[in-house]
Amino acid sequence: MVDDTEAVQDLLVRCLLPATAAALAGLAAVVVGLTILPVTALVLVAGLVLAGVALPAGTAAAARRWAARIAPARAALAGRVADLVHGSADLAAYGADEEALAKALAADESLAALERRQALVHAAALAGGTLVQGLTVAAVVLLAQGAGAGSVATAVLALTALVAFEPVLPLAAAGERLAGITAALRRLREVRSATPAVAEPARPAPRPEAPLTVEIDDLVVRHGSARAALDGVSLTLTPGRRVAIVGPSGAGKSTLLAALMRLVEPESGSIRVNGVDVRDLDGDDVRTLMTGLTQDPYIFRASLKDNLRLAGPEAGEEELERAVREARLDGWVERTGWDAELGEDGRTVSGGQLQRLALARALLYDPPVLLLDEPAEALDEETADRLMGDLLDVTRDRTTLLVTHRLKGLESVDEVVVLEEGRVIQRGRHDELVSVPGYYRDLWESEVLTRR
Ligand code: ADP
Repeated sequence: MVDDTEAVQDLLVRCLLPATAAALAGLAAVVVGLTILPVTALVLVAGLVLAGVALPAGTAAAARRWAARIAPARAALAGRVADLVHGSADLAAYGADEEALAKALAADESLAALERRQALVHAAALAGGTLVQGLTVAAVVLLAQGAGAGSVATAVLALTALVAFEPVLPLAAAGERLAGITAALRRLREVRSATPAVAEPARPAPRPEAPLTVEIDDLVVRHGSARAALDGVSLTLTPGRRVAIVGPSGAGKSTLLAALMRLVEPESGSIRVNGVDVRDLDGDDVRTLMTGLTQDPYIFRASLKDNLRLAGPEAGEEELERAVREARLDGWVERTGWDAELGEDGRTVSGGQLQRLALARALLYDPPVLLLDEPAEALDEETADRLMGDLLDVTRDRTTLLVTHRLKGLESVDEVVVLEEGRVIQRGRHDELVSVPGYYRDLWESEVLTRR
């Protein structure tokens, strides 16, 4: 989109203005010809139309054809290079680096070959323009001499013709550029006319004030035409209540959080916050009310403090320190210091620290309803246990919806909802669910077994 927007800026500077300048200069030259020797004006018009209209139209058509071949070749090379860079460790570990490098070089060579041929066409167009200029000037001179015009008149006619071509010749390159610009305009129009994933209300209702009660009623969400990701889910979160969502992968847990954050549009059913349907609220307002830990938190290449401040730009020292303490990150902060620069993709941060940093962010933001999506995902057993323990401690008395696949500690939450294929298959308190046969007890037993 950035490239396309920049391309559109060229429309005025590199296409419309040069074309206008060329048309005006050509017109003036033709008028000079008409007043001195009209037949030379005819030849000049023919030459100018050839170099200023036909040639640019030809280069535009050629550029469109070439773009269709060069764009995929360029994408293929970019893909190969990305694989080489991001996959270097795996490629080296399995001895596949030579082959991957050879493939990248081959992609590079085929792109270079295409570009060489495109450059040839480009050069031919430029040469063609200069040739038309030369032939037109020669024809003007011959006609003037044939008509017995004096040497001064001949010189004026010839030089006028020569000069008239100067602003016209660059139009061949402008034609090429125009092809790229129209393609960019088409793509931008597609983006602008795409229907948004979620419709914003024309006149949003005022944002409800905390404490909040969230009522999810018979919610159905479908991604595309596939089976419903959520199929009639109902759930109530009263202030201070904590509900855990469990279920196999693909059950619809993340979709439920996305619907709460108003990132997907439900097909039917409703989500109400203090009685107000979220569809009547501004999307950003909804996300200040209900947000939290995303599944894949991102660490920015900035200091530790700035990484936290993302969630609270105005937070003072005390608030920062409390969030860090509650997320049990204070030891780490003491060791590295607030100003420690965190690396690209948070590579200097361990998985456990990353999740705690994300938790500290969520605590700093302090939304009335805290949403936590698989906070212990991808952590080793021990780290995950400690994190979940701390998390359940710190969320006590906070309205929380916790998506998790670890059941340890869930005896402290108010309700556990088991989802499968978008439907609620079990719900109740932890001890009730482990006392009856079903998905939850099976999961609990396998978790207890692996712990031993
Ligand atoms: P969970 O979080 O329980 O693993 P999800 O909510 O991510 O489950 O997914 C529920 C179902 O919806 C799955 O079948 C998944 O493939 C599908 N799904 C999720 N997100 C999308 C999406 N953006 N587009 C299409 N299908 C999706």
